[in-house]
Amino acid sequence: MTSESKTVREVILHHYAKLIASAMLGVNWQSIPDESLRKRYWGLVRDRYKRLLSSEITMSSSSKEFKMLVEGAGTKCVYCGSTETLEWDHIIPISRGGPDTPDNLVRACASCNRSKGSKTPSEFYEGRWDQIPRIVQGLYLKLLYAEHERRGTLNATEFPTGEKPRISTLARAFAINDTNNSGSSEGDANE
Ligand SMILES: [Zn+2]
Repeated sequence: MTSESKTVREVILHHYAKLIASAMLGVNWQSIPDESLRKRYWGLVRDRYKRLLSSEITMSSSSKEFKMLVEGAGTKCVYCGSTETLEWDHIIPISRGGPDTPDNLVRACASCNRSKGSKTPSEFYEGRWDQIPRIVQGLYLKLLYAEHERRGTLNATEFPTGEKPRISTLARAFAINDTNNSGSSEGDANE
């Protein structure tokens, strides 16, 4: 990404456009085998990004393309693929302000569920976006969008203050656990 500053909304929608393009072409953007496929990929990203920005498509209407991915997802752990002792995992834990809705729920094995604990996906994968399973990425982006919409920070070019929006920093909206206005809670200086 270039150094021009994107808004919170633009960062989320650009990630979503990349996710759609990956799902449509069945590729991982970091390892696209040939030049022509790479061109198609980035062409799709640009096209979907533009349409998401202009609201011609929304994150939910574009999920037709995304649903291919989700099919069959209920039968194995979304994190490791295990089929043993599956439980429901809240992508954004309830304790972090995640909603108790189907869009925040995935199947996870007891072991992954335990090690994920009260972490957001960014924390669980230590900021390595590309390692987060695509199903989780898609739902996570929608959850981030909804949370920033609720907070009125979608058009901010800094989040938190002083930082360029990146997915891992956008997730800090959930780290600030204030149901009402509890003032500044900048306790995560160690990140
Ligand atoms: Zn697992």
